[in-house]
Amino acid sequence: GIRFDHVSVRYGDLTVLDALDLTVEPGEVLALLGPSGSGKTTALRAVAGFVRPSGGRVLIGGQDVTDLPPHRRGIGMVVQQYALFPHLRVDQNVAFGLKAQRSPRAGIPGRVAEALEMTGMAGYARRYPRELSGGQQQRVAIARALAIRPGVLLLDEPLSALDAQLRSGMLAELARLHRELPDVSILYVTHDQIEALTLADRIAVMDKARLQDCGTPQDLYRRPRTEFTASFVGSAN
Ligand code: ATP
Repeated sequence: GIRFDHVSVRYGDLTVLDALDLTVEPGEVLALLGPSGSGKTTALRAVAGFVRPSGGRVLIGGQDVTDLPPHRRGIGMVVQQYALFPHLRVDQNVAFGLKAQRSPRAGIPGRVAEALEMTGMAGYARRYPRELSGGQQQRVAIARALAIRPGVLLLDEPLSALDAQLRSGMLAELARLHRELPDVSILYVTHDQIEALTLADRIAVMDKARLQDCGTPQDLYRRPRTEFTASFVGSAN
């Protein structure tokens, strides 16, 4: 699991994340939902190790990782823009994270094949990113994140660069992956209420650097704790 223990992030006078306390259980999808600028990405990047908290601790699998560099945290991460290396083939892109982690060489081809299989991209191993559609590129990015067999998967608006039709297909795929990865904690950053309501076991609603509310989709929908949650979650229909 992931635990935010009173995590704050400040830039000068600006508080971007204000004493966040939040847990993502093993095997759970937790959506961080909120408007632009509410601090969602900053929270995710604090777990990844790309943002250093000004206060508090981040724990992964019970271990304090606040001072560990990103490649030692056992996380897989997918961002909005697939960020594949254009000069590397699909299989080389997927292998990249394993090499960065100094994973034993002999095991790499098997891990790459497994990850491509899971994302339905097994037939595309020798293609280059430019030869793939946007949705296929995002699958490869997900395969790259899964190849390291992460305990934690961080997804930052992974579908927002895709067109509406592709997006609903990919949402179903993510739901399937979630079922196939019973021990992986998934933190899913989105500003899209439908995505959060569809995919998440629990939703944490953020606004103005603060956690406003947290609960199952049904909880938030029926019993929003704040007016902000009511209007934000309710605006999905
Ligand atoms: P979005 O959906 O637009 O990405 P978000 O909820 O993910 O929004 P963050 O990206 O976490 O929000 O940013 C929260 C606030 O922190 C914003 O006001 C942003 O301008 C500010 N911010 C983020 N990174 C920095 C930085 N390195 N220096 C200064 N301010 C920053």
